[in-house]
Amino acid sequence: MPAKTRIGESFLRVIGFTAGHWRRHPALAGGIIALMLGFTVADLLLPIYAGRLVDAISLPDRAAGREIAISAVTSMAFIGLAMVGLRHFAFLGIVRLTLAMMRDMAQEAFWRVQRFATDWHANTFSGSTVRRITRGMWAVDLLNDTIIQALIPSVAVLVGATVLLGLRWPIMGLVIGASAIIFLGMATAFTLFYVAPAARLSNRWDTRVGAVLADAIGCNPVVKGFSGEQREDEILSHTLGKWRNRVARSWTRGTNSSSIQLLALLLLRTAVLGMAVALWWDGQASAGDVTYVLTTYFVVHGYLRDIGHNIANVQRSVNDMEDLVAMHQDPIGVADRPSARPLAITQGGIKFDNVTFRYGGHITPLFNQLSVTIAPGARVGLVGHSGSGKSTFVKLLQRLYDINDGEIRIDSTNIATATQKSLRAQIAIVAQEPILFHRSLAENIAYSRPTASLAEIQHAATLANAHTFITNLPKGYNTLVGERGVKLSGGERQRIALARAFLANAPILILDEATSSLDSASEILIQQATERLMKGRTAIIIAHRLSTVRNLDRILVFNHGNITEDGNHKTLLRNPHGHYRQLFEQQASGLETVLENGVG
Ligand code: ADP
Repeated sequence: MPAKTRIGESFLRVIGFTAGHWRRHPALAGGIIALMLGFTVADLLLPIYAGRLVDAISLPDRAAGREIAISAVTSMAFIGLAMVGLRHFAFLGIVRLTLAMMRDMAQEAFWRVQRFATDWHANTFSGSTVRRITRGMWAVDLLNDTIIQALIPSVAVLVGATVLLGLRWPIMGLVIGASAIIFLGMATAFTLFYVAPAARLSNRWDTRVGAVLADAIGCNPVVKGFSGEQREDEILSHTLGKWRNRVARSWTRGTNSSSIQLLALLLLRTAVLGMAVALWWDGQASAGDVTYVLTTYFVVHGYLRDIGHNIANVQRSVNDMEDLVAMHQDPIGVADRPSARPLAITQGGIKFDNVTFRYGGHITPLFNQLSVTIAPGARVGLVGHSGSGKSTFVKLLQRLYDINDGEIRIDSTNIATATQKSLRAQIAIVAQEPILFHRSLAENIAYSRPTASLAEIQHAATLANAHTFITNLPKGYNTLVGERGVKLSGGERQRIALARAFLANAPILILDEATSSLDSASEILIQQATERLMKGRTAIIIAHRLSTVRNLDRILVFNHGNITEDGNHKTLLRNPHGHYRQLFEQQASGLETVLENGVG
């Protein structure tokens, strides 16, 4: 039964993970459990006094009975008071413990998610990751409440009642003890093997609903642009249909399971009460004894009635935490070697030495023993059809993926031996579609150097030809740019990204040119800023514009993961059958078409 084994394994894994978090707060967790056990013992003392009270009031000597009754009532009042106090302080402790655990879990999950390799992010919906983390956080709340407030006291009550009743009437202790074990076993089996698999499946669909929503909402501009609203509605409706079926099955199983447990409890109650009456008939029990048995039974019943529900809650929170715990087991992907050292770049020369790389899941490598050397300070353009490997080339240089064979060296240091932090700190990136945080423009520019002063930020913006447009905004550098920078035009976003790169002041620059056409004024501003930025750095430009490639020292032409041509614009054009010349001619004729259309 692999499914059951898996459930058992993941159950233990989640419980072990939670216990690990409890162990971080040993005094607090121990104190809470002690208080809750005290509360439970007090709960079990009440029936003893209830029995005494009934015996007292049925005494023929009313005066003596009155004394005993008053003492029983007073004791019950004090026990009640102690219970309120114990519960109050236990619950205050739970608040502290649970919140500390929730904070740690969210923070640690986020730590890992941020460090997971690019591949992990490429294969995971960001919306579902957010949901996995927040759902896991709240599941800890339910799990802690259930274990500390319900399960531990329930077990304590069962053991206590069995011992107390068994000391007086062994047969009664035996029946209650045996029934409790059978009942617990049954409730656990039903919950784990009948309800839990359905709950897991319904959770998976819950995550999918989140992912579908996030995908469609995140891509809203595309949806709008292609009038896809109806299609997206249908995709969601299909997902919600499946989700509803799975959740209905899970809830129905939960209801079936709890009804069966209630029936079992009914049987137990009848047996215990019947036995109490039989003991009374035999003269082995007084009216007070029957009251004692009855009230003890009701205490036990209170805990047992909820135990099925509580096991279900544990299972539900374990299900909800599985994804979060699994995140802690996923390998980071691209990790620093234990011996990794900070990378020191003195010159900025780059060498790909027999690099073989294939994306996970691909059979044929994209790069097969690719070798190329880029001199320090060179300005190198990468051109080639879409899918030819240009972006992958720069991703490998940033070590967003580990290569399968060969070495990538910067100034003769293999980048795989350096810390990723130091490597990436020395490579400034200007992406094709710069992504901006929903924070102020100043913060966005300073992302590459958070310690920068406002004067430094303004200087970088000036170099990037962005200062003027920023100061013309009503809130200037304090302007919030909207989610992912939607409030700025494409050209403005690019210049913010260039300002970031100026501030980074890294010896190596990677620039992925925008493919979208910009108005000529923006184009000139960006061109000037780019020229300025490349000065004194090794620059790799994924180039789409002829105006850019013309001015570069060297052009590498990519074709299906190979570098098929290598030279500057003039020398490459001389090859009439060359790929570069073809690309150039295609672009030039494309340009003419645009111009013709413009004139027409
Ligand atoms: P370019 O930048 O020249 O357009 P890329 O380097 O983006 O090309 O892509 C090269 C090839 O690798 C393409 O076939 C692309 O489909 C594939 N590819 C890119 N990214 C991934 C990925 N994360 N997982 C699998 N394949 C990928």
